Amino acid sequence: RDELGAGAVLVTGAASGIGLATATRCHEQGWAVGLLDRDEERLGAALATLGAAGAPPVAAEAADVTDAAGVQVAVDALAGRLGRLDAVVNAAGIGGYTGDVVATTPERWERTIAVDLTGVYLVSRAAVPHLRAAGGGRIVHVSSQFGLVGAAGSPAYVAAKSGVIGLTRAMAVDHAAEGILVTCVCPGPIDTPMLRASHADGSVAARAESERTAHRSLLGGPGRPEDVAGTVLFLLGPDAAHLTGAVLAVDGGWTAG
Ligand code: NAD
Repeated sequence: RDELGAGAVLVTGAASGIGLATATRCHEQGWAVGLLDRDEERLGAALATLGAAGAPPVAAEAADVTDAAGVQVAVDALAGRLGRLDAVVNAAGIGGYTGDVVATTPERWERTIAVDLTGVYLVSRAAVPHLRAAGGGRIVHVSSQFGLVGAAGSPAYVAAKSGVIGLTRAMAVDHAAEGILVTCVCPGPIDTPMLRASHADGSVAARAESERTAHRSLLGGPGRPEDVAGTVLFLLGPDAAHLTGAVLAVDGGWTAG
């Protein structure tokens, strides 16, 4: 890492929303950026946009975070092309209302856990050896306000996002001695394609959740992807050198009131 604290960061879910905003902010702050996403078309667009901004280097690899072998290949390739890896931001995720446990099919349950929890584990597993080789680093997981409190019609999502908080703490314990600090952000409603899709969902579960929580933000409505990216930048930077295992709600007070 240079004297400003920037190095090389790998961002998953980098083709959209919070991941894209994080990759963009990191690049503006001098980080070399590796973009990973399963959406090849939007990944290509993100690569073109960031690449057009000039140095530092940007690289992209398409992979599904649930595919252990594909993740390993993509993470190794990105670390190789950037020359090193100092940090990882696990932002890839899927949402969507599945109904209560009776209505949630085993297939929806498995897929949600696979992407939102197992994917975070698989990317971390592939990345930690590169952070070790760099002499330490940072990992930031993106959980959710629904990792902290329940939600209507979303048992798999709530279980997965709660699991990400547990995984944050477990990894913080295991990797502190080698200088790898692991933290977690819990965004509240953030204006991204995922949130817009959930607002467009007319299911009973979606209506129940929106009635239950519509006016909960203390700061007047959804945040912007850049609001989460700014907190992630702090967690990657020199001012967060004494944080590990920390879980920060970036939710406009949503879980406070
Ligand atoms: P988004 O849909 O805009 O972006 C998610 C990105 O992840 C997409 O580019 C998608 O292609 C990618 N992705 C999905 N499944 C993948 C897979 N299997 N492998 C690789 N890439 C995959 O959504 P967002 O709102 O930016 O969400 C980012 C993260 O923030 C997610 O983990 C989400 O759960 C979390 N989050 C979002 C909100 C919100 O209100 N938007 C609130 C709390 C938490």
